[in-house]
Amino acid sequence: MGEGMDYKAELVGVFGYPVAENPSVVMQEAGFKALGLNWRYLTVEVYEDDLGDAMKGLRAFNMKGVNLTMPHKVAVLKYLDDVAPDAMIMGAVNTVVRKEKQLVGENTDGKGFLTALTKDGKMDPSGRKVVIFGAGGAARAITVELALAGASRITVVNRTAARGETLVSILNDNTKTDAFFVPWEGAYEIPSDTDIVVNATSIGFFPDISAKPEIDYETVTDRMIVCDVIPNPPHTPFLKEAEKRGAKTLDGQGMVVYQGAIGFTLWTGLDAPVEVMKKALEDTLKGSE
Ligand code: NDP
Repeated sequence: MGEGMDYKAELVGVFGYPVAENPSVVMQEAGFKALGLNWRYLTVEVYEDDLGDAMKGLRAFNMKGVNLTMPHKVAVLKYLDDVAPDAMIMGAVNTVVRKEKQLVGENTDGKGFLTALTKDGKMDPSGRKVVIFGAGGAARAITVELALAGASRITVVNRTAARGETLVSILNDNTKTDAFFVPWEGAYEIPSDTDIVVNATSIGFFPDISAKPEIDYETVTDRMIVCDVIPNPPHTPFLKEAEKRGAKTLDGQGMVVYQGAIGFTLWTGLDAPVEVMKKALEDTLKGSE
């Protein structure tokens, strides 16, 4: 080895199953390349029962951290030394950061949404009224961040009552927001004082890309910002309906890019090259259509 040479790459990645179609590697490695970093992002298939061994492997390989996706976001908590307060409220971690020998859990999904909302949507959620469709992992991450950022009212509209009620309890027990559950029966009418509307269901996701949430779209107005979590294809029928009524819209690709950029910064300590990462993600998703 030549004097001063360092051939060792720093390792991060994603553990999940299924994971083959997760595009994060393209976005993160474009970011590393742009900053001249010798880092690798590995897409690793880890079955449900093997997470404990995989986390030991992460420690043994001195990896800098990892993303977690299905089915590990909740199960990973027991392998961590510390968990960030927002991720603790959500009960879910999508990013692990190694700090020396400690593994710290974070959740960047909701933070990615919040960044898209404030930066691209120019909307500060403080004092705002929110309607969110869905009560799964994405809805939980988004509503916890909106509540911590000062949203005054959050209405959770969900098909399955138990799931919606659980989310509302989590919000009311841990934050200052006023959260309400509304069962989703027929076309939902959005209250006219709503500021932020979010589709956090999987309706519109590939392959059923013509599907849209059952809403009375006449109740969407131009005072609202309407957001979708569906990353692919991003220009969903839900967003198209909102655009027709003059609402400002935000798509799910922005959320993916920003959650990745936040993870990049947590791991490397550097500002993420957001535009480079965004373009890499867009190019690869276009190629997969
Ligand atoms: P979950 O399975 O945890 O939750 C799915 C939610 O969608 C539930 O509330 C479910 O309702 C609802 N839902 C699904 N189908 C229907 C339907 N036909 N009618 C009414 N409600 C329905 O999934 P996630 O929360 O993890 O993910 C949701 C979406 O968010 C996915 O498409 C995912 O790709 C996307 N996502 C995007 C991210 C981004 O960065 N852009 C990050 C994370 C996720 P019920 O409780 O009644 O079953």
